Amino acid sequence: MTSITFHGGVGEVGGNKFLVESKKTSIFLDFGKNYAREKRFFEEPFLRPKDEEHLLSLGIIPNVPGIYKGDEKEQGIDGIVLSHAHTDHGDSIRYLNDQLPVYCGSVTKQIILAREFSGLSQGDYSIGKCLKVKGQNLYERRCLKDFHDIQSGEMQSIGDLKVVQHCVDHSTPGACGTILETPDSTIAYTGDIRMHGRRQRLTDGFVKAAKKSKPDVLLIEGTNMLEGRMNDEDDVQFKAIDVVNRTKGLVMTGFSNADLDRARTFYEVAKATGRTLVLSAKQAYILHSLREFKDQDFLSLENDDVAIFLKSKKRRSPFELELESESGYDIMEADDVRGRQKEILMAFTLYDMNETFEIKPMVGSSYILSSSEPFDEEMEISYDKLCNWLQHLAMPLYQIHASGHARPYELKEIIAEISPEIVIPIHTSYPDLYADYISDLDVKVHLPKDGATFQIS
Ligand SMILES: [Zn+2]
Repeated sequence: MTSITFHGGVGEVGGNKFLVESKKTSIFLDFGKNYAREKRFFEEPFLRPKDEEHLLSLGIIPNVPGIYKGDEKEQGIDGIVLSHAHTDHGDSIRYLNDQLPVYCGSVTKQIILAREFSGLSQGDYSIGKCLKVKGQNLYERRCLKDFHDIQSGEMQSIGDLKVVQHCVDHSTPGACGTILETPDSTIAYTGDIRMHGRRQRLTDGFVKAAKKSKPDVLLIEGTNMLEGRMNDEDDVQFKAIDVVNRTKGLVMTGFSNADLDRARTFYEVAKATGRTLVLSAKQAYILHSLREFKDQDFLSLENDDVAIFLKSKKRRSPFELELESESGYDIMEADDVRGRQKEILMAFTLYDMNETFEIKPMVGSSYILSSSEPFDEEMEISYDKLCNWLQHLAMPLYQIHASGHARPYELKEIIAEISPEIVIPIHTSYPDLYADYISDLDVKVHLPKDGATFQIS
């Protein structure tokens, strides 16, 4: 007997939490933050969830006994398997009992921790904490969760389950598809996936492995079912080079901190246009945290034409001081940028806009928005506020983006290739359209309701 209970992520984008139960074992596939439901009640940072009990009573996190920090009972499940580091797939692990094992790739773990160490304090619900060493000018970074590394392509046993993850192409590195064998069923789960990025061959590898596993069920995302945009990463590079070449002043660009392929793209844009790429401290801290992963070809912060923007010395956080202390890194402050605007391509979001009072962008500067509007994977982009700032600064906006998610025809090709018994569309606002669109394939489609259990065997 194997079942899947859907707690978010069906009929909506994000908040995936799928409870898989076999005879002896139960795990969650992803445990993501449900932005849409949280936004109905909360307004971060001033009105934030304070207690998992509150989230439970608002129906934002699932009522599964024995898994949360405040629960007194024995641990109610055997672990969480995360597909990737985006917050809508993993951030709600912060409410879980710290002893619950969290299984994911090491890149995913490092990104989650880097974001935690460089973000606002989450108090009792921290995944990691940065603590000052008593009496010394040193900081200790402590991971508070029981992470277990899964190596891509290698089998991990959890109770009577066998779990294999394969890296896929998505808008953050380390993203994986998961193949899960119970004693009587096989489930394949894409996580978030695309075929038009720089790592397409990874997606091909997962599809091949999933096909070989002959899954009973394929859980497959469908974010872009009603907006299949045809830009790829090369288009972003080509178009951004054009904008930068035609801009005489400073060029600023906004993109997701964890999208390291986009950071690489803008590095290529900077090189092609004779500029220096200046990254934000939070982006740089993610790259800094991944500097040991030499085989992954991440952008090096030690490159001559890469710099890190740090805010005024008076306001620096421990993670910024750590970046500042690295001798190989080129640090720039507002004064430096102000004096070299024509030579700089700068990553800059709405939340950095206070710095423009010091930078003073010159006449003839431009802004490239390189994320989807109004949501990206990590947060809501306050598009109206961004536009107000750009009007104030007299900076025109160009939108140049390639999605982290597969196009509709790519999803259909993936399903046809894997050829599962049953397809369950998840992470989509258009499940009915999805089901109709693939109805000419030789597969059954199941559309689950939120909170419902699907019995596989
Ligand atoms: Zn994602």
